[in-house]
Amino acid sequence: MTEPVIELKGVERHYVQGQRKLTVLSGADFTLSKGEMVALVAPSGAGKSTLLHIAGLLERPDAGDVILRGRACGRLSDDERTAIRRNDIGFVYQFHHLLPEFSALENIVIPQLIRGLGEKEAAARALQLLDYMKIAKRAEHRPAELSGGEQQRVAIARAVANAPLVLFADEPTGNLDPGTAIYVFDALEALVRQSGLAALIATHNHELAARMDRRVTLADGKVIDINGQLPA
Ligand code: ADP
Repeated sequence: MTEPVIELKGVERHYVQGQRKLTVLSGADFTLSKGEMVALVAPSGAGKSTLLHIAGLLERPDAGDVILRGRACGRLSDDERTAIRRNDIGFVYQFHHLLPEFSALENIVIPQLIRGLGEKEAAARALQLLDYMKIAKRAEHRPAELSGGEQQRVAIARAVANAPLVLFADEPTGNLDPGTAIYVFDALEALVRQSGLAALIATHNHELAARMDRRVTLADGKVIDINGQLPA
């Protein structure tokens, strides 16, 4: 039996745009199991970011629930959700969102300090992660001094700094040239495989999607498995 890490059950999400009500998610169900790496492939505007934000407890669904290792998160307070996000969820965006005034190392140390780790321990783990992402030589550089691929590798290291249960990534290589995208994805995949994390990764890159364990898309507000041809 595979162990579910995160489950979405009957998730609904609507937006009001002027007079119009836009339904983005409607009865969306999805389960991500331990050690599983799943690609989320759907056209722009289909609701990938919405789904990732709801699963990552950054947004609340209008109905339905998100269950993280058996714990329903929908009705928890904002503080409780923030604590879960900090400890159990890693998030990587298309743009790195690193703190510009801090070094690569500090960007990975800070979330660990917020979690309550000591500085020495946090720095040791940060260096280990940078080394794993093959970017240890850049530890003291600020984000502006790094290339796009390097920035994303630091952002990935930061996302897993607190050893989360699950990693969500919203087009993490979408802003990179094809060669760099593969290189960054290689590092991301190695990290996920080695740590046994569960990961849901939105991507437009079919080559990368093909390397994941499973592919899903969004249709009529629901998450469905892709069998065969990937959508454009
Ligand atoms: P994707 O990530 O697949 O491009 P999104 O989840 O960003 O899709 O958006 C899905 C749909 O919801 C789009 O039509 C978008 O315009 C709309 N949308 C997203 N966020 C909001 C919001 N905060 N307010 C109104 N509409 C939104």
